[in-house]
This record gives sequence, structure tokens and C-alpha cells, in this order.
Amino acid sequence: MSTFQAPKGTYDLLPPDSAVYLAVREAIAAPLRRAGYGYVETPGFENVELFSRGVGESTDIVTKEMYTFTTKGGTRLALRPEGTASVLRAALEANLHKAGNLPVKLWYSGSYYRYERPQAGRYRHFSQVGAEAIGAEDPLLDAELIVLAVDAYRSLGLSDFRLLLNTLGDKTCRPAYRAALQDFLRGLDLDEDTRKRIEINPLRVLDDKRAAVRAQLTGAPRIADHLCEECKAYHEQVREQLTAAGVRYEDDPHLVRGLDYYTRTTFEFVHDGLGSQSAVGGGGRYDGLSEMIGGPELPSVGWALGVDRTVLALKAEGVELPLPRATDVYAVPLGEEARRALFTAVTALRRDGVAADLAYGGRGMKNAMKSANRSGARFALVAGERDLADGVVQLKDLDSGEQTPVRLDELVATVKERLR
Ligand code: AMP
Repeated sequence: MSTFQAPKGTYDLLPPDSAVYLAVREAIAAPLRRAGYGYVETPGFENVELFSRGVGESTDIVTKEMYTFTTKGGTRLALRPEGTASVLRAALEANLHKAGNLPVKLWYSGSYYRYERPQAGRYRHFSQVGAEAIGAEDPLLDAELIVLAVDAYRSLGLSDFRLLLNTLGDKTCRPAYRAALQDFLRGLDLDEDTRKRIEINPLRVLDDKRAAVRAQLTGAPRIADHLCEECKAYHEQVREQLTAAGVRYEDDPHLVRGLDYYTRTTFEFVHDGLGSQSAVGGGGRYDGLSEMIGGPELPSVGWALGVDRTVLALKAEGVELPLPRATDVYAVPLGEEARRALFTAVTALRRDGVAADLAYGGRGMKNAMKSANRSGARFALVAGERDLADGVVQLKDLDSGEQTPVRLDELVATVKERLR
């Protein structure tokens, strides 16, 4: 194995493509910021129990995909496989829920780790932007989060995504549904792992992607037929608000998602240009999670959108994001004195907000001009001894080739004017 090879299931973000990732993160965050969500950052690892209790003992994420390790001090830690449990843990630890302003609205952006079988769109290290609204039970809040995700996708120029919507009921109506589902599932021809799952978390069996299992699930009892009146009314309000906000959704009674903590509203965004790994984001309400990890009752709702797959979705739709130029002005000094003068000029440009770079390493004119062209800059700034003696530099428009002398003391103003 070469030492110059990223670990299996991972990849590096490099320029120029990395700029697209930054823009995607920013586009997802922008609607959240406008809706009162504050930025939260938590460690990349947590105590294992946070996830085994929070995400669920029966989930693939915890049983198969978590990167766990023991520290030199003997503590069992896990690289975070998802964001919600950590964010809730952080909010509880800092008593944010006691500050009197519920819901506590938080957003995050970061790296997540799952030991999955790598394939297109599925990695062992991936990146998500997520949002959580902690401590309020209100269908309008569920709708808000869904609308914010839709607005993020739309602002990126995506259109081939669909919203799948379901409700999983609550502690009043879910137990009876769970029992009915278990009765049905026990009668099917399933492997041992799946049989175990029936006993621990039967709803997860509905999430099975294998065709042989899916075929047997057609007659399964549907949660929609078992909802209590409160859950029905709650779900109806979520749907009404989505419609009022111009958001279309598809009811998907099989949508349970891969984590144990969801109650009531669950949703997933799928993109039709992505093949088998079509989920670009998802989330839902998790009213019981706080208690599951040892906190007070704090009904909450949230989502996480995958950055990697959003970038793939942009490619699939042929959307090119309008990215700012990396470099507006590229300085090409001819001689030692010009190097120093242009270094000063470039610094002044940067300090005034112009993206500027310089040909370093004392290369010749031809070579440096090549770099100027490659940099994508609008202008080259060329200067030799004679120019400096006259107090000017040559501003060359790299599109038209036209070159004009500009007084050094007017350079910043002139460049800014011409860039406008
Ligand atoms: P989840 O936490 O499983 O609900 O995932 C939320 C979103 O994160 C998914 O819709 C994907 O876009 C993204 N995601 C989850 N797992 C992976 C992975 N292994 N590789 C790339 N993206 C992922």
C-alpha cells in the first residue's frame, strides 16, 4: 500500500472542487441562520454509550458501523457516526434547555464516520450539515425544519429531489402497532439477524432494502392505521404547513429510517440522479432521545443533510454553482525591486478585499504569465524597473489582452473600479 493513498472509503477535498463543498455547506447553513439556529461544534468522538443508547443498540450504525476504540487511559470512545446524539448531549451538559428559551435551535457542520461498504455516494468518512430544535413539540417546528432543508436545496439550484414523509406515532399508539407488526413479521421467512431485530426494533425491518424481504412486507400493518388521534392531528398539521409553504411531499408508510430514536414525523430527501445511494438527507422528531441518554423529557426534531451526496446531486443535474474567483489579480514581477514593490501592492489589494496572488520563486516572465493565466485571474499586474521608476505598474486584462499603466498610488482604487 502506498503511503500516498487515503484510507479505503475516504477521499480528499482538493481545489478547485473543494470550493463546491464549502459553497454547499454555506448554502445549507444560510436558511438556518435566518431562522434563529445558532452554530454548535462538538468533539469528533464521544463515549461509546452515548451512541449505543442514543442511536440504538439494534441499529446497523451501532452494531456494525461504529469506529470504536479504547484510549490509553482505558476509556471506550467512538468516532461520531451521526450528529444528533452529540448535539443533544452538549445542550444538556450546558443546560441550554434551562435558559428559558425553548426550543433551543442549533446547527452544525462536520465529519462523520461509519464503517460501511464503500461505493459511489457511500463513504467511511463523510460530511453533514445538520439542525436540531430541542425542547418543543409543535408541528410548525417540524414543518419549519423541512421547509428550511427544501429552501437550501432550491437555493443550490437542485430540482430532482423528492421529500418522503411519514409519522411513526408516539408512546401512546406505537406500542400497539409495534405488537401488531411483530405478529406479522414473525410469520415471515426471514434470516436469524432479522428475526432478532423483530424482537428488539421491529420497525427497522420495514427499512430493509433487500428485495426478498421487501417482497414479503407488502401486507405488513401500516402505522397510518394505528395512529392515535393526537398523532393524526399532529401529522395533518405538518402536512398542511408544508403545503402552505409550497413544499410537495410523498407519503411513504415504510419510511422508518435507520436510527431508533424517531417518533412521529420522519422524512427523507431522495435525489433521483444518484442511483442506489439516493438519500441526500433526512431527519425527524425524536421526543424520547433525551430521556434515553439520561436527560429530562425534551421533545425535539432535527435533520442532517449529506454534503457529499448533495455535491453528487449537483453533478447529476449539471448545476454549476456560481463560485467567486479564487484570484482576481495575479502579480508578475520582473526583477528583484519589482518583487518587493508588487508584494506590497498585493498586500494592499488583499487588505482592501481583492483576491490577489504573486508569482513566487523568482521565475521568468513567460513562466509567471502562464501561472497568471492558470490562476483564473481577471488581471495580471506586471512591473519592471522602468515602470517602478515611473511610479506605475502595468494592469493587463487577461481576457482582452489590453494593457494600461496605472499609478501605484491609485492601483487599489483602479483595480476595484475595473473589477466592478
Ligand atoms: P443519516 O444520519 O443516516 O440519516 O444520514 C443523513 C444523510 O447523511 C444521508 O441522507 C446521506 O446524505 C448522508 N450519509 C449518511 N451516511 C453516509 C455515508 N456513508 N456516505 C456518504 N453520505 C452519507
